[in-house]
Amino acid sequence: MSEKQFNQPLGGNEMPRFGGIATMMRLPHAVSAEGLDVGFVGVPFDIGTSNRGGSRFGPRQIRAESCLIRPYNMATRAAPFDSLQVADIGDVAINTFNLQKSVAIIEAAYDEILGHDCKPLTLGGDHTISLPILRALHKKHGPLGIVHVDAHADINDHMFGERVAHGTPFRRAIEEGLIEPIRMVQIGLRASGYEAEDFDWPRGYRSLAPLMAEVREQLGAGPVYLTFDIDGLDPAYAPGTGTPEIGGLTVHQGLEIVRGCRGLDLVGGDLVEVAPAYDISGNTSLVAANLLFEMLCVFPGVEYRS
Ligand code: MN
Ligand code: MN
Repeated sequence: MSEKQFNQPLGGNEMPRFGGIATMMRLPHAVSAEGLDVGFVGVPFDIGTSNRGGSRFGPRQIRAESCLIRPYNMATRAAPFDSLQVADIGDVAINTFNLQKSVAIIEAAYDEILGHDCKPLTLGGDHTISLPILRALHKKHGPLGIVHVDAHADINDHMFGERVAHGTPFRRAIEEGLIEPIRMVQIGLRASGYEAEDFDWPRGYRSLAPLMAEVREQLGAGPVYLTFDIDGLDPAYAPGTGTPEIGGLTVHQGLEIVRGCRGLDLVGGDLVEVAPAYDISGNTSLVAANLLFEMLCVFPGVEYRS
C-alpha cells in the first residue's frame, strides 16, 4: 500500500450505523471533485419520468440504505478504499421546474467533475440524466462503449413529442455520436411495447451478447460507461421504481453483470430510477446502494487482496 491516506467509510464501531450524516457509504462529504479518483454524485431529478414519479428521492434513500455497506468486498476481494480516493460530492442542484435547463445544469456539473479527473458514480434520478452525463464524458473521452441494464431499451425517438425524456437517452446518445453502437450492449430488456421496431432498432446495430465474457470482448479496450436502471431487476427484488416490469433479472444476475464488467475501462457509471415511495421496505434502495458499491469495486485501479 502507498503512503497516501485514502478516505475510508465511517466504521460501525466509530459511530453506530444508524447515526451520523447520511453520505454514500458514510464516506466524507467533499465540496468538489478535486483530488478524488471517484466521486459519488446524486442527481435528484424525476421530471423526465413517463409513469410513476419519485426518483427525485432516490439519492437520499440510497445514501440512507448504504449505511450498512462495509469497505471490503468479501465475494470478489476488491478493496476499493485501499487504492482509490473516494468521497460523496453531494447532489447536482437541478431546476425541477425545467427539464431542458436541468439537462444543461447536469452536463455543466459533470464537466466540472471530469475537469478534476474524477470518475463519477451517480445516484439517480430517472434515466434522462444519463444523456447529459454521456455528453460530458464524450467531451473528455470521445465515443464511449456502454453496458446498459434495463427492462426498457430507452431508444424511443420521442415521448409525448419530447426528444429528451427517460425513454429516449440512448437514441439521442447514438445520434449525437456519444456512444459507439458496436460497443453497446443492453441486458434485461423485456415488457410490452408499441411496435416490434421498439427492440429492432437497437438489434439492427448489434444483438445482445448474453455472457459478460462476450460483452467484454465486444466492448474491447476503449472507455466504457455502465448505466444500471433498477427496473432491469424483477419487481420482486426492486419494486421501488416508476416503470416496473415482471419477469426481470435477479439480484444475483445483477451482481454477475456488474462484477463481469471488471477489466473494462470504466470511466463512469450510474444507478437510476429508484423511487423509494413504492417500496416501504427500503429494499430497492438497499439493492441500489450495494450495486453502486459493486460498480466502484470494478473500476480501474481497484486493488484486490489475495
Ligand atoms: Mn431506463
Ligand atoms: Mn427502465
